Amino acid sequence: MSDVITVVAPQWTRETIYKPEALSKAAPDNAPECSVPPRFTWDDLQSLRQWKMLAGIYPNPFTAAYTAELLREDDWRICSPVVFPPLDPEVRERVGRRQMECPMCQGKQVLYGLQHGLKTGLEVEVPSAVCYCRQLHSFWADWANKEIVSLRFSKANLATLEPYEHSQLPAQRQQEIIDLLKAHPGDSHYLFGGPGTGKTHMITALYRKTLHNWSVQEWKQRDDVKAVWRVSTSRLLQEYLAWENRHRDEYAQPTKLPTVTVDGIVKAAKAGYRPALFLDEVDKCNPTPFQIGKLIEVVDAVYAEVGQVVATANKSVDDLIARWGSDEAGTVLRRIGAGPGAHSVRFAG
Ligand SMILES: [Zn+2]
Repeated sequence: MSDVITVVAPQWTRETIYKPEALSKAAPDNAPECSVPPRFTWDDLQSLRQWKMLAGIYPNPFTAAYTAELLREDDWRICSPVVFPPLDPEVRERVGRRQMECPMCQGKQVLYGLQHGLKTGLEVEVPSAVCYCRQLHSFWADWANKEIVSLRFSKANLATLEPYEHSQLPAQRQQEIIDLLKAHPGDSHYLFGGPGTGKTHMITALYRKTLHNWSVQEWKQRDDVKAVWRVSTSRLLQEYLAWENRHRDEYAQPTKLPTVTVDGIVKAAKAGYRPALFLDEVDKCNPTPFQIGKLIEVVDAVYAEVGQVVATANKSVDDLIARWGSDEAGTVLRRIGAGPGAHSVRFAG
């Protein structure tokens, strides 16, 4: 004999579940409020477990009969695990860009599952998972930002990367570089070589992979912690200069915090992420000693957290050090392209 007692639930309807005043306030049929079975939010569910809502702390929309059944039930079982239907890549992009409502959660970011009360036969809907449109939104918030990814490279993708016929580099060398990046997408890379050799395309493809991995982890953690930054080096150093001088002009607009800071990197690592910094055109600036110091600080912070740094430049690290005349910068920059988990990739035949 099974010890599970099957109870035939009374046919609960809107009228027997909800008080008339709750029904009169609710939108007509099929609205989430006053739906059958009732739908609970995360908070409600918590309250339900603690019996708070029913003890009168929160307004109770339910009839006395239904409330009594809810109170009687103490053996809730999830009976339908949430499944994520695969979405077409085009739909994923449109949802990510917020050009259409998510077809899975209708924009609520939460997917509901049925919960079944064994004692009473009650059925209620409870939030069972955060919809993966959260991941699509956080990925596309940066990927669709033209200041981060220019339109020219918006299709860059490590998975589909192939030698490009108009490149200044022979196809064979391009293939070697592509193979190296595909084999080590999470490593640090110093990509250097002349213009038109495809460095920006490659850094963008690596950035896509790292940004995607972060957005999947953030979806699971739901903590809004950023861990991947991409910025042109000259812009970052200008931001630091503006930040340093922010109190000089009291009538000026509030100064924006630099794109990436040591605090942000440490915060990401504390939350369990691997920080990643993508620096475009490291040698396209003439930094002051103050700015070199700031660059060293952020790159060092990423290394201290065993993160990833990817940089592009026309010149080799040695040429750059000679130009900047900073030994300290050299030590830091050399780390991007040398040592374990780091590659110096020359874009030349
Ligand atoms: Zn969704």
